Order: sequence, then C-alpha cells, then structure tokens
Amino acid sequence: MNFEIARKRMIETQIVARGISSPRLIEAMLKIPRHIFVEEAMAAQAYGDTSLPIGEKQTISQPYMVALMTDLLVLTGTEKVLEIGTGSGYQAAILAVLADRVYTVERIRPLALRARKALDSLGLLNVNIRMADGTIGWKEEAPFDAIMVTAGAPDVPNDLIEQLKPGGRLVIPLGNQAAQTLVRITRNADGSFGREEITGCRFVKLVGKFGWSSEE
Ligand code: SAH
Repeated sequence: MNFEIARKRMIETQIVARGISSPRLIEAMLKIPRHIFVEEAMAAQAYGDTSLPIGEKQTISQPYMVALMTDLLVLTGTEKVLEIGTGSGYQAAILAVLADRVYTVERIRPLALRARKALDSLGLLNVNIRMADGTIGWKEEAPFDAIMVTAGAPDVPNDLIEQLKPGGRLVIPLGNQAAQTLVRITRNADGSFGREEITGCRFVKLVGKFGWSSEE
C-alpha cells in the first residue's frame, strides 16, 4: 500500500470534499503519516473515513473530525495550545505543525508512552505530554490561546475556561455518553463568552474530576 497516495485521497475525499479548505491545515494533514499512530496490523485502514481502536478501549478520531476540530481553533502558527486526551498522538501532531507549542494530557500511561514515541519519531519536539487528569487543565503552563478536548464531556470543565486567554478558543464535545454536540466556546477580549454548536459527534468519555467517573 502506498501511504502517501492513500493520504492524498483521504484529504481530497474526506476533508476537502466536506468543505475544509484551509491550505495550512491541508498541508499539515498531508505531512503527518496517520498510519504510524495506529497499531501496525491496522496501518492499511489508517486512511479510511473512520475512527479506529488504539487499545485501552480508546480510539483515534475520524480524520474529518480531527480536521474540523483543528479548523475551529483557527491557528496561525504562534499559539500555545492545550489538548486533553492525547490518545494516539495524531491530533497533537497536527496541532504541532500548525501552532507554536502543544501541551497534551493523557490519563492512560501506555497510550501516553506510545504517543511520545510516535511524535519523537517524527521529530515533533514542540509537543509536551503529561500523564494526568486533564479535566483540571495544565495550570503551570496556562493561559492557552486554544484548547481542544478530544473526549466527550458532560459539561465544560471550569478550569479549562479559566486557562483560556482572552480571544482564545475552546472546542469540546458536550453531551451524554452515547452522543455529543461539538461546541466552540470563544472567550472574547471583553471577558464575555461566545458559544457555537457545530455538529453532532461521538467520542469516548472524558474521565476525571470534572468529567465522568470511570465506572459510569
Ligand atoms: N486525540 C486522540 C484521540 C483521543 S481518544 C488522537 O488523536 O488519537 C480520547 C482520549 O482521551 C483517550 O486516550 C482517553 O484515555 C483520554 N482521556 C479521557 N479522559 C481524560 C482525562 N480526564 N484526562 C486526560 N485524558 C483523558
């Protein structure tokens, strides 16, 4: 299988065809090899139009969802970005190409370790990974220009809102465990907040102090 051709086709048929046109984002998705973020046995499926299992009952998101959520952050290259839910590390890799610095939090150690290896193999040295409950954010590195939560939450964790810069954007799937709505919160310069509902989606659950409990 020629991964480069598969990647180009993925971008044409799943991303551009659905209305995402940011040249920087398309360039980043062409550059990052998605197949190194899935188990070797699944490499051939890496450019399909679906999420895929990555072990520990977690998933790497559908390529279109990665593109859509990234697009909503409107990154120009100067930003400090926080991601909650490192998972495979693929989304963090895309963010690393499009922003200045990426801070990503994962609660499951084997996933955090595997993501670190994949990111290192691509030489993406501007990604910092922390093993912790990301529902409380990453206080020492706050504030952030943009925050992305890649697991489904019952509500917006307040700590994340507090760690968002004025003018900053936060993208998060909100809802119950079966289905969520992708929401973008904008913290305006005057301190007020904007809220946009983007689309329906389905993510694994955000587990933590300001998320779901692990048994629920
Ligand atoms: N962005 C990932 C997909 C993540 S799947 C990718 O590109 O592959 C969601 C991830 O969120 C899972 O790995 C899960 O373990 C993690 N997660 C769930 N709750 C979390 C929390 N409170 N803090 C950090 N990570 C969390």
